[in-house]
Amino acid sequence: MRINTEGLILKEQNIREKDKLVYVLTRNSGLLRAFVHGAKSFKNKKNNATAMFCYSKISFRESGDAYIIDEAEPIESFFKLGADIEKLSLAQYFCELCLTLVQEGEQNAEYLRLMLNSLNFLAKGGREPELIKAVTELRLMCVAGYMPNLIACDKCGEYETNTMYFDIEQGVIYCENCVSASVMLPLEIGLIRAMRHIAFSDFDKIYNFTMTKESLSDLSFITERYILSRLQRNFNTLDFYKEIKS
Ligand SMILES: [Zn+2]
Repeated sequence: MRINTEGLILKEQNIREKDKLVYVLTRNSGLLRAFVHGAKSFKNKKNNATAMFCYSKISFRESGDAYIIDEAEPIESFFKLGADIEKLSLAQYFCELCLTLVQEGEQNAEYLRLMLNSLNFLAKGGREPELIKAVTELRLMCVAGYMPNLIACDKCGEYETNTMYFDIEQGVIYCENCVSASVMLPLEIGLIRAMRHIAFSDFDKIYNFTMTKESLSDLSFITERYILSRLQRNFNTLDFYKEIKS
């Protein structure tokens, strides 16, 4: 079977001297694992079009439990990321996170849309990296079925109090009157509103909000904690990003 579609390269792995294996988030066929034969040969056009962060038009051929890429032509490469190690490491983390969350065979166009938009904002500027990080983290989690219940206090249904408490493990919030356990993070209402915006807004609007640098940093800390707690794992790429940033 042959598949012709567009896709974003989330990961590339060298195999032997000249071949490589790539993980492609495609527009129409979900996540595909595919081999690129002779990728490393001199002047192989397929090599650039199947490099990490490249969004390309790709022709796949089925082969066993994987695919072979016969042809690939770049549409957009987020190569500008390479000039900024902080942004580059953040983009690598987005790819690792996306690879962790998308199941093979799962077809949801929002994953690709989110990744392309986030990489685009990272490469071209116009949004704070920490805003892009928080949006990508929380929205990816929502798309993957880990949407926290941010609508109202989980116990009494109160919509807002000045401080709300986020139970990261359960993914629910409590108002000032219902908070009990000390494991909950106290959050100013502005942070809850920002999280609601990311989780519930139409896709076109999710990056459109502003916050002080300090609040953005808090937001990014919370969305990150939520991921690490729900997925019960660490990300080397995230550790690297934090090392660079500090
Ligand atoms: Zn309450």
